[in-house]
Amino acid sequence: MFQLDVHLFEKSYSIYVDNSFRKIRELFEEYFGTDTYYIVITDNNVFNYYYDEFKKVLNGERIECFVFDAGEHSKSFETVEKIYDFLIKRSIDKKCVLIALGGGVVGDVTGFVAGTYMCGVRYVQVPTTLLAQVDSSIGGKTGIDGYTLKNIIGIFKQPEFVFINTSTLETLNDRHYRAGITEMLVHGLVGGVEAFDYLQNNMNKILLRDNDAMQEIIVRSCDIKVKLVENDEFENSVRSYLNLGHTIGHAIEGWTNYQILHGEAVSIGIYAIFKFACQKGFIKINDVKIVNDLLMKIGLPICLNTIEPIQIMKRMRYDKKVKNGKIYVIIPTKLGEVCIYPLNANDEDIILQILKSLKQAF
Ligand code: NAD
Ligand code: ZN
Repeated sequence: MFQLDVHLFEKSYSIYVDNSFRKIRELFEEYFGTDTYYIVITDNNVFNYYYDEFKKVLNGERIECFVFDAGEHSKSFETVEKIYDFLIKRSIDKKCVLIALGGGVVGDVTGFVAGTYMCGVRYVQVPTTLLAQVDSSIGGKTGIDGYTLKNIIGIFKQPEFVFINTSTLETLNDRHYRAGITEMLVHGLVGGVEAFDYLQNNMNKILLRDNDAMQEIIVRSCDIKVKLVENDEFENSVRSYLNLGHTIGHAIEGWTNYQILHGEAVSIGIYAIFKFACQKGFIKINDVKIVNDLLMKIGLPICLNTIEPIQIMKRMRYDKKVKNGKIYVIIPTKLGEVCIYPLNANDEDIILQILKSLKQAF
């Protein structure tokens, strides 16, 4: 089992990475003793695949489960209210521990409930999608959607620990798996030149879902996010590097009403921002080609014929990265390095033209 520590003073915690659930019981007893009450929060898919196994390994007599419908539509006030209701009906108090068993949707909903129920209860992240394992389970950001806007309501709530079982990736469908690789790519593109080379050299193993190799690859990817979170927990500076491709990506995701997956939208966003950075002279055309080839190899999209470029630009203005009317984006300066860049009116026009060209090229 690998262990990675997140240093956040009194909110520090560890990420454990293993290829099974075997060590889960030991860990839970070490952290919470033997008489803690656990509430597992999960969605119906993950429940069907993993709940019995998880409960058996945890030897859970004092364990109950709340299951909601899988999908982004469940990242809502309605689900959160139903969970509060579930907890209150069972008189669950602050001694309980919530367990988020599932992908990013389960993790975000559970983290939000853990941060708000009784002003905060403990929770553990057990991420089961690639996206959740390398990204959403780390860093304590928890958001729910509302008012037709994504992640518009949220809080920071760090978990007690994160337990990643890489074997759960075996059952993840291909589309979600590939979309999860986008976040690994983001880490490679912001984590330094070596991080990018490592990712590129290991892409075949990632695509083959080589369970043993994946443990180390996931640890390396998490480590990049951990370092950025440690340096900037509340995303005022370097943590925002992780938004590479996300400003355009979020706008596309929202525009398609989440018909396109987060990772797919971010993939288009990464490609568009690489083209932009090249036009502005920050990177070479060959860097754009390398990223293009990698996205193709992973099987991720770089354009979409249903996007409306003007609408995407409008939506970018709703992004949390807009300050004093300026859109701040993350742009590459080389493969593995990025910077924060405020768009001026001319830049916005260049991006509009790039989006138009991507639509036409489809
Ligand atoms: P998801 O949670 O909807 O999971 C994707 C699908 O895979 C679901 O149908 C789920 O039931 C299924 N699934 C999960 N694990 C499985 C497994 N092991 N085997 C088979 N099926 C499985 O989506 P996601 O891609 O994990 O997460 C996306 C969400 O994460 C978005 O809402 C996004 O906003 C959020 N997110 C949050 C952060 C953060 O920092 N909090 C970061 C990135 C993304
Ligand atoms: Zn993302």
